[in-house]
Amino acid sequence: MEECIFCKIVRDELPSYKVYENETVLAFMDIHPIRPGHLLVVPKVHEPNFEKLPIEVYMHVMQATHILAGAIKNALKPKKMGLVIAGWDVPHTHVHLIPTEDHEDITSKILLEGKEGNPSSETLTTIAEKIAAKIKDSL
Ligand SMILES: [Zn+2]
Repeated sequence: MEECIFCKIVRDELPSYKVYENETVLAFMDIHPIRPGHLLVVPKVHEPNFEKLPIEVYMHVMQATHILAGAIKNALKPKKMGLVIAGWDVPHTHVHLIPTEDHEDITSKILLEGKEGNPSSETLTTIAEKIAAKIKDSL
């Protein structure tokens, strides 16, 4: 799947603001976040439908979202963490991990439009580092 943008990110052929990585999973900043700290967690294997992932891979993705949700909560202090798998935009399974202040933060229209627009590279880097620094505390 050469044309898949997330496969290119996984292979380091496209830049991303990485927050977490292991053998199976990669997490990076969404560049059109609903709220600052909005992460995408993807399996390294290409599969458009999460229910078709090998169960072990799915469990690794979910384990990473659990750790990262704790890290985001510690780093950015949102009211709640939200989690969505939609998959209508990029055909590679990805979990949106979203710090939320309001129920509306995770409704479909806002999710698709991105509430915070296009943050600068500096902003994304700063937030990625802030979350990554809290991963150990969240294990
Ligand atoms: Zn892919």
